[in-house]
Amino acid sequence: MASSQCFWVPGLGFSTTGKHAIFVVVFFHLVWQGDTGTSDRTIALVDANAFFASCAALEDPKLHGRPVVVAGDPGQRHGVILSVSYEAKRLARGPVHAGMPLGKARRLLPPDVVVAAPDHALYQRISDQMYDILQRFSPLVVPASIDEAFLDWTGSLGPLGHDPVQVAIRLKQAIRTEIGLTVSVGIGWSQVSAKMAAELQKPDGLTILDRDGWSARVYPLAVGELWGVGPKTVPKLHALGIRHVGDLAAADLSVLQTELGEYGRHIWAAAHGDDTEPIDARLDRQAKSLSHATTLAHDVSDRAEQKAVLLGLCDAVAGRLRENGYLARTVGIRIRTPAFRNFTHAKTLPVPTDTTDEIYRAACELLDRHLPAGRAVRLLGVELGGLIAESDWQQQLLDFDASGAAVRRRQVDRVVDEIRARFGKHALVRGSQLYGKFKFMP
Ligand SMILES: [Mg+2]
Repeated sequence: MASSQCFWVPGLGFSTTGKHAIFVVVFFHLVWQGDTGTSDRTIALVDANAFFASCAALEDPKLHGRPVVVAGDPGQRHGVILSVSYEAKRLARGPVHAGMPLGKARRLLPPDVVVAAPDHALYQRISDQMYDILQRFSPLVVPASIDEAFLDWTGSLGPLGHDPVQVAIRLKQAIRTEIGLTVSVGIGWSQVSAKMAAELQKPDGLTILDRDGWSARVYPLAVGELWGVGPKTVPKLHALGIRHVGDLAAADLSVLQTELGEYGRHIWAAAHGDDTEPIDARLDRQAKSLSHATTLAHDVSDRAEQKAVLLGLCDAVAGRLRENGYLARTVGIRIRTPAFRNFTHAKTLPVPTDTTDEIYRAACELLDRHLPAGRAVRLLGVELGGLIAESDWQQQLLDFDASGAAVRRRQVDRVVDEIRARFGKHALVRGSQLYGKFKFMP
């Protein structure tokens, strides 16, 4: 790919010939760094196809090959589709997609469609299996969602082979034979180019994009299809005469910055297929945590009193979370006994949250499970991990496998409300190794 010029710079640097070539390539590299702040890499995005519906079929083999949708309780007024199997899409009399009300979808789906209830513990288990495989294929795996991850292959393919396409084929095969899932893989020079490459072919796709391929295949897409362009931004871009990704790439950056601020620069870079932050910064952000702890004035053995302390800690730490525009995937507690023994316990939430109430309930559950009644504590702490920007989470909900992006986007708030209503109060699943091993500050 054209972008590999930057990738090979270190190799050329060791060469005893071709100094002109080194100069030219480095110059090119610096131009792009000036625009985006990041340099070209080799990035793959692995995205499981119709993940929730596929998990339902893995759990119950009778569903295999049948039309399946995963949806909230049909009795609920706002029951919406969360995932649609490709078989259901094929048999439907019109486009059916995540975010659509179940009642409306039923009129399009065949009468024998299987409506499966969501099962987040199952999704987490299969997601863990998929991430275990991904980690065999890259030292840097950055979670994008429960069924989607970026793999950085920059300079790291050596032991696996040298052709990213061949490695991607082996990766797809491993996920299919070991789990039974199909995935779409996109390969590009950045996260956004890998993501858009994966979008181009579903299900079971494998697409590699270089910059020429980007102009040919991504520029003609509606601007709302670009990763990172939210539904609220589309009308603003339309007002500027920007309807397609190519229009955005050709737009005057200073106008975009005036209209949209820093976000204008971000989506302008995205329209060129470039990230504004390096992939490992994303990983750092995922690993980031917030914590609050307090040493008690006296040892406390009363459970109600312990919980009152927890509530204060949860309120403080959740407030900081909301102030910073983040949601937490994990909640942890720290306990120090009068004998100065320290314990930490954490768990992954089914759905990331920023509400004091949900965090407090998770913290209480951990306390009840791990601290026997009547046992005194000297210090209590609460830590939130696996932080994700609220805007990224919204984007993840938009990234369900489905066509009809515009309709899907209008439904997103309803999906968010539904997921929160349905899962926020339910039992929590075990902590994922990926979403934060717990480390408490001393
Ligand atoms: Mg997916």
